[in-house]
Amino acid sequence: MNTISNFIGGEFIKPLSGKYLDNYEPATGKIYSRVPDSDSHDVELAVQAARNAFPIWSGMSVEERSAIMLRIADLLTLHLERFATAETIDQGKPLWLSRAMDIPRAAQNFHFFGTEILHFASETHATNQHLNYTLRNPIGVVGCISPWNLPLYLFTWKIAPALATGNCVIAKPSELTPMTAFLLAELCQKAGMPAGVLNIVHGLGAKVGAAITEHPDIHAISFTGGTTTGENIARTAAPMFKKLSLELGGKNPNIVFDDCNLTEATLQSARAAFTNQGEICLCGSRIFVQQSIYEAFKKEFLSHVGKFTVGDPLELTSKQGALVSKAHYEKVLSYIEMAKQEGGTVLCGGKAVHPEGRCAAGWFIEPTVIEGLTHDCRVNQEEIFGPVATLIPFENEEEVLAMANSTNYGLAAVVWTENLSKAHRVAAKLQSGIVWINCWMVRDLRTPFGGVKHSGVGREGGFEALKFFTEPKNICLKL
Ligand code: NDP
Repeated sequence: MNTISNFIGGEFIKPLSGKYLDNYEPATGKIYSRVPDSDSHDVELAVQAARNAFPIWSGMSVEERSAIMLRIADLLTLHLERFATAETIDQGKPLWLSRAMDIPRAAQNFHFFGTEILHFASETHATNQHLNYTLRNPIGVVGCISPWNLPLYLFTWKIAPALATGNCVIAKPSELTPMTAFLLAELCQKAGMPAGVLNIVHGLGAKVGAAITEHPDIHAISFTGGTTTGENIARTAAPMFKKLSLELGGKNPNIVFDDCNLTEATLQSARAAFTNQGEICLCGSRIFVQQSIYEAFKKEFLSHVGKFTVGDPLELTSKQGALVSKAHYEKVLSYIEMAKQEGGTVLCGGKAVHPEGRCAAGWFIEPTVIEGLTHDCRVNQEEIFGPVATLIPFENEEEVLAMANSTNYGLAAVVWTENLSKAHRVAAKLQSGIVWINCWMVRDLRTPFGGVKHSGVGREGGFEALKFFTEPKNICLKL
């Protein structure tokens, strides 16, 4: 059985307590590796290593740091197959998706921030008498805590800008999906990253995550995960005046107007609802369809959803894999039951799937589409984060905007219409950090990424991320 180690001070080490947690393969429901059950003592060790490494790393030129990051990107690309297979076994997502999206994007994160740092500049503000210039210094030791849905993709999305700006990092992947972060540590060693610059401490959020959040020498926390966890982190970190970036949950509206390109809208709406088993914070799970095309949309949409075959994620024919854990699988099934109690009609799916062979005990659920629910019922207000989407008819712009904006969340939204004025008008009024018009999940890494309301605080991506991981210092000189 594989045993995962912490990566602290450039070395692979056991948790100080000697304790481990079981790591399950979602597709089989069986334990396949052990992950350190670390605690505050391991975090303390990591902070010491990071503090020691900080003068070395922050003292390097940006060109030197960039070269190391680009080597990591190249190594990830070289080992794509190994990482994609590991991600699929650990997370449950289809192998074709790990190959096409997760691992290439992780490499791209290193490449993007490793080159963006070469173009990062700060401001000057001059008058006749004074010259102000702003330095942007690394913060020091920072904490990066990431979730299980896009494990390496989101882990690297945080650590790459933190490292590029000269910080040393204490990172914690989700204990449900620790494998690719563990494998990444080896590539960082090979790429020549000095010891202690990146420290990966595995374990539970309540122990390791909390210890990172509470540590007085960790001055910034970048967190992606659930809204309640974000709230807990803010409660601890805010009174300590730590910098905080919180990327939290979503319950994203997908709005289909009757003047849309129906073929494209139905196809992409199915993708937006069910990619990665619906376990993407950007998934469009509330699909609002204008009344006049409701039946036509439903027919075509359901025919696309019918093609999302569920099965062994290692088989390339499986469009949808397993849900990440038994607890999450049971949570998603409980929401399907709740939908029936709230008066919904299941149009397709609705049940667990038990494939034959090695995956018989895995955590699979059919892609599920439900109609007949009110926009304000629990199923349409709470984040399910699984393969469940609802169809909701609407009459006009005003009505759909009120329904779309009615949740506590505000991460992403999608609008389908061929009417340009309407598209801009609706996009401007949606309470959302990101709006896609006639497309979904098109990611340009230069753009600000994040949500409003309970979907988060701050923005990642582009120069926003480099600004977050640096402290501006303004210096004013009398001329
Ligand atoms: P969680 O909030 O449960 O966990 C996220 C990370 O935080 C994990 O590493 C977790 O560890 C850790 N954690 C848990 N409790 C604490 C704590 N008290 N202090 C510090 N860290 C802690 O989220 P999930 O892993 O369940 O991920 C799913 C959620 O992430 C969804 O709500 C989804 O919407 C959101 N998400 C948001 C994105 C965005 O960009 N806005 C992108 C992707 C996902 P452990 O695993 O041990 O619990």
